[in-house]
Amino acid sequence: MNLAGWVERNGRRLPDRPALAVGERVHADWARFAASAASVAAGLRVELGCSPGDRVAVLMDNRPEYLEALFAVWHAGLVAVPVNARLHRDEIAYILEASGTSVVVTDAGHADDAESLVGTVSSLSAVVVAPGERWARLLGSAPIPVTERGPSDPAWLFFTSGTTGRPKAATLTNRNLLMMALSYFADIDPVSPGDSILHAAPLSHGSGMYGLPHIARGAVSITPESGGDGAEVAALLSRWSGLSFFAAPTMVRRLSSDPALAGGALGDAGLANLKTIIYGGAPMYLADLEEAIEVFGPRLAQIYGQGETPMTITALPSSDHADRDHPRWRERLQSVGFARTDVEVRVVDDDDNELPTGEVGEVVVRGDVVMIGYWGQPEATAETLRGGWLHTGDVGSFDADGYLTLRDRSKDLIISGGMNIYPREVEEALLRHASVGAVAVVGRQDEEWGESVVAFIVVTPGAPSPTVEELDRLCLDHIARYKRPKDYRFVEALPTNNYGKVVKRELRDQLRSG
Ligand code: AMP
Repeated sequence: MNLAGWVERNGRRLPDRPALAVGERVHADWARFAASAASVAAGLRVELGCSPGDRVAVLMDNRPEYLEALFAVWHAGLVAVPVNARLHRDEIAYILEASGTSVVVTDAGHADDAESLVGTVSSLSAVVVAPGERWARLLGSAPIPVTERGPSDPAWLFFTSGTTGRPKAATLTNRNLLMMALSYFADIDPVSPGDSILHAAPLSHGSGMYGLPHIARGAVSITPESGGDGAEVAALLSRWSGLSFFAAPTMVRRLSSDPALAGGALGDAGLANLKTIIYGGAPMYLADLEEAIEVFGPRLAQIYGQGETPMTITALPSSDHADRDHPRWRERLQSVGFARTDVEVRVVDDDDNELPTGEVGEVVVRGDVVMIGYWGQPEATAETLRGGWLHTGDVGSFDADGYLTLRDRSKDLIISGGMNIYPREVEEALLRHASVGAVAVVGRQDEEWGESVVAFIVVTPGAPSPTVEELDRLCLDHIARYKRPKDYRFVEALPTNNYGKVVKRELRDQLRSG
């Protein structure tokens, strides 16, 4: 079982239909997409010496070559390691090392970073820049058939940052990704060849995941030419039909207030080609959601998932968004919907006992979409998958109708602009400063970004106080730009509990009360 079979089949069945596009322009039809996957796969195996099961990273901004590379990797029986293109070089190095990646397929914008890591990352032997000379050579290789893979074989190593500060890779198998795709059809939308998906969010994350059901069914995958702003979305809606896209709540908010779309700017005719906006990944404020429904009509669907159970725990379908007459319409809009078709979802107490309706506990999930474990991390795997259930670290409760509402995150994850930031990574960067004695990083509610990063700093006794410039520089030198604190607070001491652990809740409360 190999997901690359989807592209191969579409290449035969829909050869002349568009498969990949950049903005309004077709980049490849299905025949060409299938041919490129088969040839690049041959190049990876023969020219670059990869064997089935080897890891190949894809480090690129959204572009059609991203999907060509991803499916070539699978076609060759290799395991894809999609890397967030906005990460710092050191973070990329860690991911490549931890996954034992041997080849990186990248683009011109990331080529220097990737090439500088050959010789530094022990497993890394080659870098392919697409488009580029070596990529062209791989495209010219004699095609090979799709490599046999089993349902339990790893296909995608999905790196999420761990609470320990070190990123962990959820090992997603062919079966996991197939279940994710099938439950998209069951719970979100059916998809057919006349449809399209716009990749306005990073392909290394949710957008790439939801690209899969679209590729399976022969829809067009579109990467935007600009950043996917309102004017571009409006233009694409006049070019492509049945258009869906995945967006973090911040992006939905930005689009619904964009002059090109807001206030009925497009009219019913202009929106006729818009099928579904799938939002999720972070909580969405009710006021923003009501505004988005006003602008886009009942074309919004919410999903709640995580890398460990890709995009699939619960969903709030578009029909619930449209059901204004329901007495609990607003309540439901604030929930994350009900359990997806392919999973069991429970709320449990600290001893993993199922809690009754209405009681708040940890959300746990079981099903064929749940990862087989963290790559190379048996202890973290055993802890997270204990008792056969994925422990999400999210806290919530079910109502009597089976709608789940998330209350808090037990992990201290900060979600800013749809991007995950684990405080520990920022703390580690700041602790490099000789004058920083202790530090705690938390999220503060932010109208524009959902949350913004705030660092509480205790200066080492007797040391000079660090400047904001020095702290910013340390962050820029060691972690991705978007993780840098927006605010530094210098304090005498951090609040701690009996075990000496910092109580971040108190810091968040402090920020909330101003
Ligand atoms: P990731 O593994 O990077 O996709 O992050 C997953 C985390 O994002 C989840 O564990 C939740 O804490 C949060 N999340 C995902 N979807 C939603 C949603 N619809 N509403 C609120 N939080 C969400």
